[in-house]
Amino acid sequence: MKYLVLLSFITLPFFSLTTANPTPELLSSCPISESFDFPVGAPNAKNYYNAQKFGKNHHLGDDWNGRGGGNTDFGDPVYAISDGIVSFSADIKGGWGNIIRIYHNYGTTQKPVTIESLYAHLNKRLVKIGSLVKKGDKIGTIGNANGRYWAHLHFEIRDTLDMPVGQGYSINTQGYIDPTKFIRSHRKIKKNPLN
Ligand SMILES: [Zn+2]
Repeated sequence: MKYLVLLSFITLPFFSLTTANPTPELLSSCPISESFDFPVGAPNAKNYYNAQKFGKNHHLGDDWNGRGGGNTDFGDPVYAISDGIVSFSADIKGGWGNIIRIYHNYGTTQKPVTIESLYAHLNKRLVKIGSLVKKGDKIGTIGNANGRYWAHLHFEIRDTLDMPVGQGYSINTQGYIDPTKFIRSHRKIKKNPLN
């Protein structure tokens, strides 16, 4: 029994770092977003095109590719779309590879309006869980999920936080929003001074 108690003391901190849901603590440190931009080709996705838009083939995000085609965009910078706090950063292997997830609050501290941005197949991750980011910060580089695809950025925006990473495609779009539509309509956030 004593041994078991001791063991749980040793293992708990480890599990709390790797599997516990970090939402409340991270959300309370999340900065307020004033504006949004695209995750590649700053500003405004210059020299990039969206090869597979949200909704096409039931795609749950956008696939950003360099105009040069093939792997010409491999290693290009990936930017945080707005101020926020990193909620996940790891190589989950398989079809996803390196992914980064970031919380954003474009409401107020009193009345948060939150979304999560997700950046996948990265070659490099330059931020870790809990990192505070500013819009336009370089958070990683474009990759190919360890050689599975031509290099591109799979990019999602979710209005429900901490959903499972998912499959990237689904007829059920609950919790997902059209990233390009969202960014275009939130280039600058209008604040209600009464909030
Ligand atoms: Zn994709």
